[in-house]
Amino acid sequence: MTHRLYLSDSGLLEFEATVTAARELSGRTAVLLDRTAFYPEGGGQPADHGTIAGVPVVDVQDDGGEILHVLDGPAPAGQVACRVDGARRRDHVQQHHGQHLLSAAFEATRSARTLSFHLGEITCTIDLDAPAATLGDDALRAVEAAANDLVFRDLPVVARELSAEELAALPLRKAPTKGARVVVVSDPGAAGVGVVDASPCGGTHPRRTGEVGAIAVLGAQKWGAGSRVEFVCGGRVVAALAQARSRLGEAARALRCAPAELPAVAARAAEDGAARRKEVERLLLALAAVEAERLAGQGGGAVRAVVVPPAPGAAAFVKAVAAALAARGRVALVGAVEDGRAHLAFARPRGEGPHLGELVRAAAVALSGKGGGAPDLAQGSGPDASRLEAALAEAEAALTRS
Ligand SMILES: [Zn+2]
Repeated sequence: MTHRLYLSDSGLLEFEATVTAARELSGRTAVLLDRTAFYPEGGGQPADHGTIAGVPVVDVQDDGGEILHVLDGPAPAGQVACRVDGARRRDHVQQHHGQHLLSAAFEATRSARTLSFHLGEITCTIDLDAPAATLGDDALRAVEAAANDLVFRDLPVVARELSAEELAALPLRKAPTKGARVVVVSDPGAAGVGVVDASPCGGTHPRRTGEVGAIAVLGAQKWGAGSRVEFVCGGRVVAALAQARSRLGEAARALRCAPAELPAVAARAAEDGAARRKEVERLLLALAAVEAERLAGQGGGAVRAVVVPPAPGAAAFVKAVAAALAARGRVALVGAVEDGRAHLAFARPRGEGPHLGELVRAAAVALSGKGGGAPDLAQGSGPDASRLEAALAEAEAALTRS
């Protein structure tokens, strides 16, 4: 059985060990050591990386109590010098212990229990038993402040095996499942036992909460009956701020304003956009009325025409022209082409008359597309725009026959 050095000292990054066996894990070389400071993937925390006798360690797995160090290179033998990647370990300690403090804060301020934890490449998540609707922005900010209060007070952290009596005396946040190792955050200045949080855990933890640096809650969303909370700690808070700053900078350059003016300028741009879309719609209808007037003047009978839409929105334009012609008492078969696609709108005055829904369906099939609608107003479209004139002529012929 490998002696797990990381359990008693998460600050130990360089150590000597003896290779006791070499194995293969999923086609890769792996070695077993008599003692190791490498943390194997588990409890939501990824594996440590580093080197063994200079050979890169790319994964560490706990295989039924045996710790397999997966190597990117040939397996060394005998006495070896080992080095854990300190930056990666510190990042994992910050995220992992930050999670303990955040879970404690959710429990203390919202009575929300943590069901699971995931330490991702960029951000971390915890799943809570509290519905997302109860975790609005104010609630999240309050929990975040409570968790950071534990960080900023730089409280002592102890992670060790406890006796049955010690376990019984602690307000454990969850029941121990594997062994009696408990991570205890205490407040020496508090009354009573002074325990801020006690949670069974086999992960790597700092000596004091201050090493977490800071905790930033990024958001919460519905997750089953509960919620999933996304957060980052320590160095990742700085990285998240840098990313936010870069995104805000890009948006500010696009809108030609200072980052601080973005909320007001973006709101105004959205309002302007909506107003312009409305105006385009109004102009489209006005132009359709003019077009219908012009077409209605070209003699009696059904009006068959291919029109040119003045702006994106051919489907809306042909419909408006056809409807305007119908309002003038005419039967209208109107088509237009936009971006290589043909659009159709057939309309007639209400009351007795041919079923234009069926007529437009047949015309759309001729365009290799689909169509349909009511007897007096129907629309269709298809990709075979070269057949538009022929499809309209065929529809007019069918009208004359009916
Ligand atoms: Zn832990």
